[in-house]
Amino acid sequence: MGIKVTKFGGSSLADAGQINKVKNILASDPSRRYMVPSAPGKRHKDDDKITDLLYKCHDIATTGKSIDPVFEQIRTRYTQIARQLGITLDIQPELDEIYRRISAGEKRDYAASRGEYMNGKIIASALGWDFVDAADVIRFNEKGIFDAEKTNALMSEELKKHEYAVIPGFYGSRPDGTIKTFSRGGSDITGSIVARAVNAELYENWTDVSGFLVVDPRIVDNPRTIHTVTYRELRELSYMGATVLHEDAIFPVSMCGIPINIRNTNMPEAEGTMIVSTVEGSSKDGTVTGIAGKKNFTVITLEKDMMNVERGFGRRVLSVLEEKGISFEHLPTGIDTMSIVVADKELDGKLEAVLDGIREQARPDSIDLQKDMALIAVVGRAMVRSCGTAAKVFKALGDAGINVRMIDQGSSELNIIVGVDNSCFEKAIQAVYAAFFE
Ligand code: ASP
Repeated sequence: MGIKVTKFGGSSLADAGQINKVKNILASDPSRRYMVPSAPGKRHKDDDKITDLLYKCHDIATTGKSIDPVFEQIRTRYTQIARQLGITLDIQPELDEIYRRISAGEKRDYAASRGEYMNGKIIASALGWDFVDAADVIRFNEKGIFDAEKTNALMSEELKKHEYAVIPGFYGSRPDGTIKTFSRGGSDITGSIVARAVNAELYENWTDVSGFLVVDPRIVDNPRTIHTVTYRELRELSYMGATVLHEDAIFPVSMCGIPINIRNTNMPEAEGTMIVSTVEGSSKDGTVTGIAGKKNFTVITLEKDMMNVERGFGRRVLSVLEEKGISFEHLPTGIDTMSIVVADKELDGKLEAVLDGIREQARPDSIDLQKDMALIAVVGRAMVRSCGTAAKVFKALGDAGINVRMIDQGSSELNIIVGVDNSCFEKAIQAVYAAFFE
């Protein structure tokens, strides 16, 4: 029987009631042998995540003040969870130690990591599974850079000794033993690392939504769920603003072709979304897999007669951006025109200097600026095999009275990107969604 690795997010573990749901999920499939927990998340909208409270304790400790009022909230949450789960483990000595070390000025990453550590201890006790401390099996180098190969060797060696184990998410250690965390949401990465190390048949990532939605539900009511998405499509969609999974969680599993299944702890019967390297046969998702977008871009358009025969024009223009430390998004070109699409936050305070630099370096005949532009990515692996996708996108936009100000299609034919006014952003996404999914 293949092995499944499960990762449960903070909302799936926010209280004993949620943890009991997780217990049932794990009990229903014995191939779910390794479990990676986040720290307890929010129980309701105004609640605090344990990780945020731990960061707060650390920040207070650095000012020399008492962490007692905030630490009490953490202690109460864990004590309540442990009591309601009826575990035998006495968690007070561990909490005392954490309290002592944070008060004594321990580093920020140590403080933050204790959310997952404590949750891992409690859940392991509730399940009757082994606890494997991530500090012993996830390695960063002295500079704090994740060491994938050392980690893989340590992790796979250690997990051979445990039939069922809980490995807390979000952190590991440096060679000197100090704790280092991944960036926020990093338990997703731990799950992926564990899946690689045990050569899992599946990495299940359990959260509070039933998979990836085709489009942001704040823009379209009740959008469909994506059934299957490839790693590459997902990368395009996440880059354009869709979020569910930490970006760095893809690599460890995608390199060995382990699929990820996004599932909903509160609706375990839902199939969720499968993330795979390739899809064989016909797709259940149609031509377009997902639609995502971002606002606030500026387009700088340069015109110069005979640009197409001038050697080095592009290089000179791009060197100005590089010099100013600006990264650009797209570069649509015509025979004598070149447009550069840049996110406003990249240009912040630097626009005039960039324009001066381009005038000086590339001597264009004219420079035109279009501000307040939004980019929308229509992503779908099936585009490459079907005719008329672009026509359908532009017809939908045209019928909705939306003026398309830029078009870019990646050469991989995975993606059609259109630029529209910020003010038309939502309407444009709704129109494209309706054309393909309603
Ligand atoms: N607890 C950490 C955070 O809130 C990591 C995680 O949940 O994945 O960012």
